Amino acid sequence: MTVRAILSAKGPQVASVEPDVKLSAALRILSERQIGSVIVVSGARIEGILSERDVVRALDEHGAAALDQPVSAAMTRKVVSCRLSDTVAHLMEVMTAERFRHLPVVEEGKLVGLVSIGDVVKLRLQHYEAEQEALRDYINMA
Ligand code: AMP
Repeated sequence: MTVRAILSAKGPQVASVEPDVKLSAALRILSERQIGSVIVVSGARIEGILSERDVVRALDEHGAAALDQPVSAAMTRKVVSCRLSDTVAHLMEVMTAERFRHLPVVEEGKLVGLVSIGDVVKLRLQHYEAEQEALRDYINMA
């Protein structure tokens, strides 16, 4: 099972903001869309990733003043991405080793989607249920 399968189920949409947008505006996107991160882009270029964890850190360090600062002050700049051909097992390894829950999907330098740990868990659960169902059918046939 690959990233391509996940994206064909959930679509290519990725929430993104420009680096100079205020943190408060990015927070509104996270809250309204009920998501955990946004990709920070300048045109087509990925500049960083901002997750709810970065917001917590910025608020802890700067208090409410952080909300008026640009997203670029709080985001992670070195972004790890994946490709459409990567396996879900590989994604799980990367997310576990790096301790994060989001991976933008990049093909030929272009952002084509985003996979969250929730997408991975959902897919694994579907497979697990399908396997259980197949085993149950097999047992009932015997
Ligand atoms: P998360 O668990 O995804 O909410 O993120 C935890 C931390 O890792 C935050 O500081 C994020 O900015 C950072 N982070 C999340 N995803 C990535 C990624 N794909 N590449 C680099 N850093 C990331």
